[in-house]
Order: sequence, then structure tokens, then C-alpha cells
Amino acid sequence: MTTRRSFLKQAGAVAVTAAFPKQVLPNTLVTETIPIAVSSANGVAAVSKAIEMIRGGKDALEAVIAGVNIVEDDPNDNSVGYGGLPNEDGVVELDAAVMHGPTHRAGAVASLRNIKNPSKVARLVMERTDHVLLVGEGALRFAKAHGFKEEDLLTDSSREIWLRWKEKRTDDDWLPEYDEKTRGIGRLIESHPRQTGTIHCSALDLRGNISCVTTTSGLSFKIPGRVGDSPIIGAGLYVDNEVGSAGSTGRGEANLVNCSSVMVVEFMRQGKSPEQACLEICKRIADHNKMARLRMDDGRPNFNVKFYALNKKGEFGAACITNDLKEGEPMYTAHDGKTTKLRPMAYLYKK
Ligand code: ASP
Repeated sequence: MTTRRSFLKQAGAVAVTAAFPKQVLPNTLVTETIPIAVSSANGVAAVSKAIEMIRGGKDALEAVIAGVNIVEDDPNDNSVGYGGLPNEDGVVELDAAVMHGPTHRAGAVASLRNIKNPSKVARLVMERTDHVLLVGEGALRFAKAHGFKEEDLLTDSSREIWLRWKEKRTDDDWLPEYDEKTRGIGRLIESHPRQTGTIHCSALDLRGNISCVTTTSGLSFKIPGRVGDSPIIGAGLYVDNEVGSAGSTGRGEANLVNCSSVMVVEFMRQGKSPEQACLEICKRIADHNKMARLRMDDGRPNFNVKFYALNKKGEFGAACITNDLKEGEPMYTAHDGKTTKLRPMAYLYKK
């Protein structure tokens, strides 16, 4: 899909790259790659920003974080950052993770309150701690120690949406005791779909390095403390700098029990295209989905999960389980080296 041009910038580079992995050589541009980025449909501004920064010579991780910060700051996107829909108590709890391909490091925060840019805090967890994941109160204290200011993340609009849910409240995430005979039937999420939403963004930079980020307010009206797939490395995002990157939006629980994003990268390692790899994990999720409350009458999952992927060659693609959830044609955002645009994604089950 995209051609890639590699060249040695200077004669000495051969000897140097033999001793160190070429990707971590500071300021040595040994490879020139056409920049590529993919994201969820809500990432048009994010992808454009990321590509602009990559063209300016920035590392893919810095670029994708700056991209998703636009969506975290946007009060009108009620699935991410400021204005994200709150938990069942009306408190916004954010999850985010970053992964840096060239150094194979990652950082994440979960159930973080009062800080609107969890992706920036996730990056600091990666860079300024010996850990990968900080949660709740500890994550907040860490963010404050690094100068982040606490603020109320609930907007009038997200509070209103929460209030309407609370007033009617026929659905939440509490389940009765499991009954082997019915396999939990009676709690069909299909009958009252809850809003989900997230932004994932992966990018390939001019050095041929790949990084990604996923950031979200998670499932709306969740049980306080619920953590989805987004901040879990291997579930909501994953990068292998020699293979590619993948990330996801949609029902996080399905990704947590299928380690979905690392599987997408592994499918690409086996030779599948990004789109085929995304379809393959959708099939795996559907095969593993046993609980009656999560299945339609014909056995298909009654939820959706979407995947976005790119590989080292600059190929990209996306796929989801179904286009059958009244949300319109499933789309994703990609920059193919020339333009940033929304594109239809592949799906496993057609309506
Ligand atoms: N994957 C996110 C979560 O489960 C939500 C979403 O993407 O809609 O927290």
C-alpha cells in the first residue's frame, strides 16, 4: 500500500547500527518512512496533529499523545477525558495507556479522577517510574506530584446524561448469582445498550518507529473502580516495533479475556494484513463468547468491538465484529501518507 525508502545517512552508520538497535540511536535518521497513522473514527483531528508532528521530525509516541490530547480536552466528546461520561456515582474515572515501540516500554493509569489528560500521565508513568500501571488514588497523587492540576471533569451535558440514566436506571453492571441453566440470561445488554467510546491512535514515524496510545472515560455509568481494556497493555493496545501496532475500542471486557491487541500484532507477525488480523481477533472473540446474556439468538455477540492496526511496512486497516448495532456504517480514521480521512472498516457479521 505504501512504499518505503531506506537509506544510510552516513557511512559510519553501518558499524554503529551493528552495535545498537538502530531505532534507539539518538538523532540518527537511518530510515526514512512515509508517516502513517490510524485511529478510531473520533480521531480525525488527532491523526492530523500526529502526522503534522511526525513530519516535523517528532517521535511517533509524542505525536500520537499530542493528537489524542485534542480529544481529551474536547468537552463535546463524552467518551474521553474532559466531558467523559461518569461512573454510576456521577464521578468521571479515566483510563489510558501508551506504548513506545523503539524501547518497548509502556505506561498506564486507570480509574484516574480529576485529571483531564490521562495519556500524559501514562507517559510519565512510563518515563518517570519503574512501573507500568498506576491506579486510582496513587495515580492521582503521582500526577499531582508532576504538577497536574485537579479539575472537575463533569460538564453540564455529561452530568445531565448521567442524571437521566440515574432517574430511569433499569440497567447497571451488577449481576445476580450465576445460574448454570440460563448462563446468566436475563441481563441482555442488547436491550439497553450503554454508551461506550474511546480514542486509540497508532502511528509510524519517519524513523520507521511505531508507537500508540489509548485513552477513555470507559464504559458509561460503570461500577466505580471498573477498569476496561484501554489501560491494559496487550488488551487495549500493543506495539511490537518490528511488526506493528494495534488498539481497540468497544466492549473492554471482551478484550480483557482475549488479550486482543497483542493477538492482532501476533496475527500480523504470522503474515496477516492489518485488516485480516483485526478480523481474526473478532472471530476469536465471537468463538469465546459463551454467556447467554452476551449473545443474540443466533449465537453472535450482542456487543461490538473495533480494532485498528498498522504494520511496519506502512499497511493499515481496521475491523469490527458487526455493523449491526444501529450505529451506522462502522468507520475509522487513517492517514495513508497523503491524506487523513474516515474510511469504512471491515466487519465479521453483516446486518
Ligand atoms: N474499551 C473501552 C472500555 O471498555 C470503552 C470503549 O471503547 O467504548 O473501557
